[in-house]
Amino acid sequence: MRSYSLIAPAKINLYLEILGDRPDGYHELVMVMQSVDLADQIDLRSNGTETMRVQCDHPLVPNDTSNLAYRAAHLMSQQFPKAFAQFGAVDITIHKHIPVGAGLAGGSTNAAAVLVGLDLLWELGLTQPEIQELGALLGSDVPFCVTGGTALATGRGEQLDALLDLDKLYVVLAKYRSLSVSTPWAYQTYRQQFESSYLREPTVQVNRRREVRSGAMLTAIAHRDSAQIGQLLHNDLEKVVLSHYPKVADLQKRFRDRQPLGTMMSGSGPTVFALTHTQAEAQQLSDQMSSAIADPDLELWVSQFSHCGIHVAQ
Ligand code: ATP
Repeated sequence: MRSYSLIAPAKINLYLEILGDRPDGYHELVMVMQSVDLADQIDLRSNGTETMRVQCDHPLVPNDTSNLAYRAAHLMSQQFPKAFAQFGAVDITIHKHIPVGAGLAGGSTNAAAVLVGLDLLWELGLTQPEIQELGALLGSDVPFCVTGGTALATGRGEQLDALLDLDKLYVVLAKYRSLSVSTPWAYQTYRQQFESSYLREPTVQVNRRREVRSGAMLTAIAHRDSAQIGQLLHNDLEKVVLSHYPKVADLQKRFRDRQPLGTMMSGSGPTVFALTHTQAEAQQLSDQMSSAIADPDLELWVSQFSHCGIHVAQ
């Protein structure tokens, strides 16, 4: 029996802009993705059979073929039948720390961990771009989760340009336990409300508009200007999620009242995050939110920017 344990970090979006529809049914996006050190642990253990099995200790995560980690293992078995025949299937155990349905790419990072782990376990020697290409077959956020750090993501989110590693800012993440937002719902609702503002121009012009709109954030990142990064946080999906979920809007207002570097919803929500320079500031902000809201349904985490994607646990 052989095994690997992998650390699978969550991500936040420092920037998320929806440019328009794509012929393949996805949206054309411009995102700046950032890994944080809040992470799941994924254990892979050869089970000596031909059956992939997945198990997760979180009640909202399926222990069947719909689990993204299982789907990643199944994809690997199809893509590399010889290695699958030689080494056999694995038991996948997911130790969940990333909240589920939270806009933090929990499922995507689990899938990325299985791709990286099976590459090691089956001694395939794949390059990172090859693993990312497989990841894109599973979900738009999976390729980013493989490498992590700070990256510009375009296309449907799968085309990546690595950006300068930022100073390790601290992040307070806030989410109501009982609240989750469906990513398809958020994008569909956005389309219904804002389709008229979608870009319908030739690609060159779309690229130019994209550069203009996201350019200020990219400049702030290039200068490692934390104050500017905080000011320039942007997420188009807030327009639909905040109006539909007043509790999420309230979280953001309460963060903003306490004047962090910046505050924003991550992905399709409902997690709201706030950035601070120091751990002490982040802890103080988290404590203030906890006592001001005083709701046992509210969960808070203090995390930090991470430069890592999927990596083997020490
Ligand atoms: P994203 O930010 O990529 O949109 P998310 O953080 O909003 O994702 P996830 O935590 O990935 O959402 O969960 C979305 C749905 O996927 C949940 O309903 C969950 O049941 C299902 N799911 C399948 N596999 C997993 C997994 N390994 N981890 C978490 N959720 C999973």
